[in-house]
Amino acid sequence: MRVMAQIAMVMNLDKCIGCHTCSVTCKQAWTNRQGTEYVWFNNVETLPGQGYPRRWEDQEKWRGGWERTRSGTLRLRAGSRLKRLGNIFANPELPGIDDYYQPWTYEYKNLIDAPAGDDLPVARPVSSLTGEPLDTIEWGPNWDDNLGGAPRNAPRDPIVEKIRDEVGERIRFEFEQSFMFYLPRVCEHCLNPACVSSCPSGAMYKREEDGIVLVDQDDCRGWRMCVTGCPYKKVYFNHSTGKAEKCTFCFPRIEVGLPTVCSETCVGRMRYLGVMLYDADKVTEAASVEDEHDLYPSQLGCFLDPHDPAVVAAAKASGITHEWIEAARRSPVYDLIATYQVALPLHPEYRTMPMVWYVPPLSPVVEAVAASGHDGEDAGNLFGAIDALRIPVEYLAELLTAGDTVPVEAVLHRMAAMRAYMRRVNLGEERDES
Ligand code: SF4
Ligand code: SF4
Repeated sequence: MRVMAQIAMVMNLDKCIGCHTCSVTCKQAWTNRQGTEYVWFNNVETLPGQGYPRRWEDQEKWRGGWERTRSGTLRLRAGSRLKRLGNIFANPELPGIDDYYQPWTYEYKNLIDAPAGDDLPVARPVSSLTGEPLDTIEWGPNWDDNLGGAPRNAPRDPIVEKIRDEVGERIRFEFEQSFMFYLPRVCEHCLNPACVSSCPSGAMYKREEDGIVLVDQDDCRGWRMCVTGCPYKKVYFNHSTGKAEKCTFCFPRIEVGLPTVCSETCVGRMRYLGVMLYDADKVTEAASVEDEHDLYPSQLGCFLDPHDPAVVAAAKASGITHEWIEAARRSPVYDLIATYQVALPLHPEYRTMPMVWYVPPLSPVVEAVAASGHDGEDAGNLFGAIDALRIPVEYLAELLTAGDTVPVEAVLHRMAAMRAYMRRVNLGEERDES
């Protein structure tokens, strides 16, 4: 067994308030330079929504990640397209500046000099690239904040329907069906990174010691195949230097024992950092399983229990330092992903084996559901309550388990049971045995 160590992150989506502090502090630390105006190594998306860049999840359009061939091996989705074109230099699947939205600034003079009136002040934004007014704003990151709603034609939930009958018209259909939450995103520092495999110059690499994926700025030739290859669209092109750039997982801070900037400054304290040990010999096989529903369990199966003496011995034999093994044993990330199994990977169907995992939001429950006794926090009623949660389980499953609702429901049940337990502890109805 070849054991490797990987730095990883878990984000608890119920705790994100969408304040963007993480994005701003990351930008100040890493992309506050010419050529990176539009670049957000960390961004926070509104869901349901288009994301950033616009519609990044549409792999039919962008051709990112891996696909499984009929013989069971993996190939880069963009690679097959390039082969058909017969020209390695053709790279047609790149998002344009409109997909990132124009970076803009206010015309501050107008903001200050505008005459007093009853209206809210409205300063026209201007492009920070060209200085031209942006007259036709039709979309921007977090535009969807104002549009929170269930997918159109979402089936009516029978439980909500029943409660609605009981409470009459107190809750309108549109409102009871609406939901919204935030999804903070950084590079996934994947175990099977498509960006690294896409790079014709060998400039993208995954560090042996901690799995952080970086771009060697001296070797990068600006082909941008990594932008195409990354299904999460987390590689950016610096138009000033002509090189690719991406989230570095704040490696200079990690190396001296500090957390990433986004973790340290997170207002919701929703980010957990830690070290995972995994069996490197299993990764390719796990990423190649036929059924997409099996990708979450197969990635889970690559992780090793750092408390198991046999794993510790194998890790030492593989050259993992005592310090990293100890870090893995203390890792909250290992507990959340593997011990309690309350965190799930983002879009495992891209087959890159992502290493930023998410605790799905339990979400506030609608008032009518609470009135029914199924408040989403009562473990005895969870099977009814889960069906009536505001965020459809199917939607979360599309995001986190390639559409399989079973693991998502299992996580929500565990989270709800823990919430109910902590409520009883806080009310003095039960002793905290944890
Ligand atoms: Fe590479 Fe990061 Fe994209 Fe994974 S998420 S393919 S590591 S850039
Ligand atoms: Fe969410 Fe934390 Fe970022 Fe605020 S700082 S948007 S709470 S992840």
